[in-house]
Amino acid sequence: MNIILLGPPGVGKGTIASKLSKKMKVPHIATGDMLRENVAQKTDLGAKAKNYMDKGLLVPDELVIEMIKERLKRKDCKKGFILDGFPRTINQADEISNAARVDKVVNLQASDGIIVKRLSRRRVCSQCSFIYHLDFIKPNREGFCDKCSGTLYQREDDKPETVKKRLKVYEKQTEPLIKYYQDKDLLVDVDGSGLPEEVFELVDEAIAA
Ligand code: AMP
Repeated sequence: MNIILLGPPGVGKGTIASKLSKKMKVPHIATGDMLRENVAQKTDLGAKAKNYMDKGLLVPDELVIEMIKERLKRKDCKKGFILDGFPRTINQADEISNAARVDKVVNLQASDGIIVKRLSRRRVCSQCSFIYHLDFIKPNREGFCDKCSGTLYQREDDKPETVKKRLKVYEKQTEPLIKYYQDKDLLVDVDGSGLPEEVFELVDEAIAA
């Protein structure tokens, strides 16, 4: 099954995608993670993307589309995939529908207030990208990942000013995808305001329906 997780930054797409990926045994493909890896490894793509990411802006379509098309060609995507953070523009959505079948689009929803609060408490593992929340998904040892002992950090773009910018970008460039996928009869809305396990159950049910 090929699934897209849609929703504003901080709504929990990464956490839910990672749980779904384990359950469905299909890869979790997060364009944000892929871009951050490119930045960390100082690739050409990383150098081009960094400026946009630091400002909370979208990386130009042509760069992201090329990257995701290459990723989807890999063998592990044959039995399905979960896309997290892609598509984010109508142009990207058109491109993905040319490259792969989309079976379901889960639209995770939460208020701006919840999102800003969540992002300020989010920490990410610098090695395996696992996502923690200082209240709900706490690491056993403060500052370190339970899974790989990597150090945890706060993403530069999770700081309050950049979060506001990212929410505006989402509203303007990504929200139109809700209607786009509604019109294709692929969209299911899921309340993303609860605890991660509760949201995961709702998503699981929505996918099975
Ligand atoms: P995320 O981890 O999904 O919040 O993404 C972090 C940042 O990476 C975004 O704010 C964008 O700058 C960039 N990014 C991730 N996915 C995309 C995409 N599909 N299109 C454009 N930029 C993206």
